[in-house]
Amino acid sequence: MTGPAGPSRLLPVDDDLDTGPFFAAARRGELALQHCTACGLLLHVPKAYCHRCGSWETDWRVVPGRGSLLTWTVVTHQVHPAHPVPYTVVLVAVDGCGAHLVGSLPGRPELATGQPMEVWFEHLDHGVVLPNWRPVAPHE
Ligand SMILES: [Zn+2]
Repeated sequence: MTGPAGPSRLLPVDDDLDTGPFFAAARRGELALQHCTACGLLLHVPKAYCHRCGSWETDWRVVPGRGSLLTWTVVTHQVHPAHPVPYTVVLVAVDGCGAHLVGSLPGRPELATGQPMEVWFEHLDHGVVLPNWRPVAPHE
């Protein structure tokens, strides 16, 4: 589907029972991940119960919006009109929690393993807010 502003972005399901709190936090400008309330284990990707202690009690905790770049790849094959190539998919290790999250950057930016990254919140159609990652500016 193409409108006057170009093709529409593909949207995640943001009101799913398991992943909805991730997107609800993003709408508040927070990065939150699921944890087990019994043993504290990070549950990423979200799960109905804790695979370490078996508890069904979980909550969503705000985690740092900073991390370090683990790796990246440049996509050059166009798979959707709303995602022009080239673009770069990044994998970020979130500070202090052990989670690895994916983001994307336009083009072919100069990157280095371990460089500081920060989350930002991309506002898409229909009120969907998607956490994404970018390099921390050198002066910060
Ligand atoms: Zn647990």
